[in-house]
Amino acid sequence: MSTLEIRNLHVSVETDGEGPREILRGVDLTVRKGETHAIMGPNGSGKSTLSYSIAGHPKYKVTEGTITLDGVDVLAMSVDARARAGIFLAMQYPVEVPGVSVSNFLRTSATAVRGEAPKLRLWVKEVKETMGVLEMDQAFAERSVNEGFSGGEKKRHEILQMMLLKPKIAILDETDSGLDVDALRLVSGGINAVRETGETGTLLITHYTRILRYVRPEFVHVMAGGRIVDEGGPELAATLEDSGYDKYVKIGEAA
Ligand code: ADP
Ligand code: MG
Ligand code: MG
Repeated sequence: MSTLEIRNLHVSVETDGEGPREILRGVDLTVRKGETHAIMGPNGSGKSTLSYSIAGHPKYKVTEGTITLDGVDVLAMSVDARARAGIFLAMQYPVEVPGVSVSNFLRTSATAVRGEAPKLRLWVKEVKETMGVLEMDQAFAERSVNEGFSGGEKKRHEILQMMLLKPKIAILDETDSGLDVDALRLVSGGINAVRETGETGTLLITHYTRILRYVRPEFVHVMAGGRIVDEGGPELAATLEDSGYDKYVKIGEAA
């Protein structure tokens, strides 16, 4: 199975000094295993808020609605429990973890998610091969997580994690932003490799249509003003490429 179901999700964020502010205002979304959904929308429409809310960021408070994974209440789970349940988030702005090597970080994550430490020899081979697919230098594994990484290295590291963790639901928040064409091709190849297993549901959050030429979604949703204001198939992405988000910004403001 593996179905993520979001129903009437309302989320507020605690602002500095101005009290809570409602960002998501009733989001409905269903992502099933094997499906790829693109969430598109203008800046500030709530895309990252949605991704944080699914992953369990403490700053984002769900005030109404539900999120379930295979019928199980995700909102009742800790951040760690969500990761163990198979929810993976590649953040728009990945955080640095000084003093922790990529290699240790990946093994710790895999151990946490799988419930047991992966067998060392197999694991080393798996990491090496996956890094090869992403054309990452092996020396990369000994660097501190995200410390001094270029934008492209951060994004590739997120995809490396995803490929190794094999999540049920992968949420990729602007993993395409700031990538040159070569890096975009590699990152897309990684996303497609996971997708082709048929075991993962993918939520591809993006501002631009560019990545959708490499990773073809079956479903496209447009967010504006904290709600999904339009939905369709891949043809909707093509329309957006021509017409932009202007129309949706107005709909979002009016709602
Ligand atoms: P997107 O990812 O679509 O660009 P975000 O989810 O990052 O949108 O932001 C949606 C809105 O919520 C924006 O107006 C943003 O300023 C606001 N917002 C998001 N996070 C916070 C926060 N931690 N504190 C205050 N405002 C926030
Ligand atoms: Mg943004
Ligand atoms: Mg964002």
